[in-house]
Amino acid sequence: MFRLSGYMEQLVRPTPVRRRGAGPVRPVVIWNLTRRCNLRCRHCYTVSADVDFPGELSHEQALATLDDLGTFGIPALILSGGEPLDRKDFFQIAEAARPRVRMLALSTNGTKVDGENADRVAGIGFDYVGISIDGIGATNDWFRGVDGAFDAALRGVRACKARDIKVGLRFTLTEGNHRHLPDLLKLCDDEGVDKFYLSHLVYAGRGDKNRGEDAAHRRTRAAMDLLIDRAWIAAAENAPLDIVTGNNDADAVYFLKWAERHFDEARVAHLRSHLEAWGGNSSGLGVANIDTLGRVHPDTYWSDYTIGNVKTARFSDLWTGGDPMLSQLRTRPRPLKGRCGACAFRDVCGGNTRIRALQLTGDPWAEDPACYLSDAEIGVRAGPRLTLTPFRGKSRDPEHKFL
Ligand code: SF4
Repeated sequence: MFRLSGYMEQLVRPTPVRRRGAGPVRPVVIWNLTRRCNLRCRHCYTVSADVDFPGELSHEQALATLDDLGTFGIPALILSGGEPLDRKDFFQIAEAARPRVRMLALSTNGTKVDGENADRVAGIGFDYVGISIDGIGATNDWFRGVDGAFDAALRGVRACKARDIKVGLRFTLTEGNHRHLPDLLKLCDDEGVDKFYLSHLVYAGRGDKNRGEDAAHRRTRAAMDLLIDRAWIAAAENAPLDIVTGNNDADAVYFLKWAERHFDEARVAHLRSHLEAWGGNSSGLGVANIDTLGRVHPDTYWSDYTIGNVKTARFSDLWTGGDPMLSQLRTRPRPLKGRCGACAFRDVCGGNTRIRALQLTGDPWAEDPACYLSDAEIGVRAGPRLTLTPFRGKSRDPEHKFL
């Protein structure tokens, strides 16, 4: 995740760079509690549906996992789905999680965050609720596969604001909804939304099947220009909206290029030091995923690479146990190839989202096809680019039969 607003602050009110310590990194854990969901989103990486799925963690298994996560000392836990509120013991799990982690967040489609549910979310003391919206009105409903989803999600936003819960909108940028970005930022301002998260499309689950809908590079650049403008207003004019982006770490390089055009060398060097300390893509290092079946992955999109299962092993043991893919992902510099391997900014970006390279080429270290920076911008010789080929009609994960 690229914290655009935070790094914009570094240009306005610089603070010293903090580097990671030498010890093992405790990851932010994104935990998909259930695959069940009342919506049917076109880019859903878990390929959820409104049915019960077999094999999900029992209540006791979930509580044991929470105990281990708490003892391990993870910095943050994000409860996700499917729709996490569709899990019958969701509130018991959330209550048990609250004293065990510093930062507890809920990632939801928002349609069930209302009335008594919203009261319970507030009562548990979630630090943050992220609600997914993929456009205004009917556009959102088309992406989410259910009429009325936009109105219901907006009710969820308002229910959070009414209860003083920090709330954000989560938006996945595609060719079909990029025009809605200005209106969504306006919606944030009108509703007093605290945070805006722009996610780039990842080719996993239905997001892989529909990868032909990924935003063209020029659209991504235009979207970033808009977000940078808004983040600048937040930093310079005290109009707060915390803007973050996800799943395309080249955003950090694009922002650095913007800074080069507007700030002096010393300030840009300071920003670059902060970005290098962050290091870009954090799959397998600063982020981890537990899926609905208890399988542990390097991030939420690597469903076909499993480190182990919390039903039979502790998460903390799996994460520190020398898994070969985790070791490779944690190597700096990473063994990147092609354009990413030659890039002058790979220490900032970290090579971006490896699952996209894997989905297109079968090689997790090939270049990320979603890098929207030009050859000149990243200091590489002009050459052929990896092009986005259509989905081949077969998911890499045989369990994903609801495509
Ligand atoms: S070429 Fe690769 S490493 Fe460089 S900015 Fe683009 S995605 Fe990141």
